[in-house]
Amino acid sequence: MASQEIENLAAALARLPGLGPRSARRAVLWLVKHRETALKQVLDALGAVRDKLVECETCGNVDTQNPCTVCADPRRDTKAICVVEDVADLWALDRARLFTGKYHVLGGRLSALDGVRPEDLAIDSLLGRVEAGGVDEVVLAMNATLEGQTTAHYIAERLEGHPVRITQLAHGLPVGGELDYLDEGTLAQALRARRPLG
Ligand SMILES: [Zn+2]
Repeated sequence: MASQEIENLAAALARLPGLGPRSARRAVLWLVKHRETALKQVLDALGAVRDKLVECETCGNVDTQNPCTVCADPRRDTKAICVVEDVADLWALDRARLFTGKYHVLGGRLSALDGVRPEDLAIDSLLGRVEAGGVDEVVLAMNATLEGQTTAHYIAERLEGHPVRITQLAHGLPVGGELDYLDEGTLAQALRARRPLG
């Protein structure tokens, strides 16, 4: 048994994607061993990122500027908004450069099990953006899970009566950052074949 502080660090690292408890423990051992060099570098880099990161007040993206790079880009199509659950989805979709409009990050998905209610998600601010006008299409790019689809239908209901086209990806997004591993052809196909929410 290690001290509580070291256990806490291992537990924190174990939550990182791709790291389980075993590899987290190995990472901690390595950091302890290289505490004068690598540990300091990691701390400095983490500190620099933490100090600069801001959440975009418009779309919920995380960036080093507010409004974020996407919202501030004048070449972007302001008529289409792609709604995603998490920042990771926005980044992956945007890295593939398939969608030329703007984004809106919900910050999660509706879940009775986890007690996530509509007011816990950035749904009111999405409605605000639509009601401000100039938006023709809202693309619901939720995960391909029951909760993702429930969220999509809930948002579609809230948007009823607004003069916008509501579409969804031909296939939902994979869960939890796995978007990174999805090839761009599949993503492009899901976007191109987007259809009205039924
Ligand atoms: Zn933004």
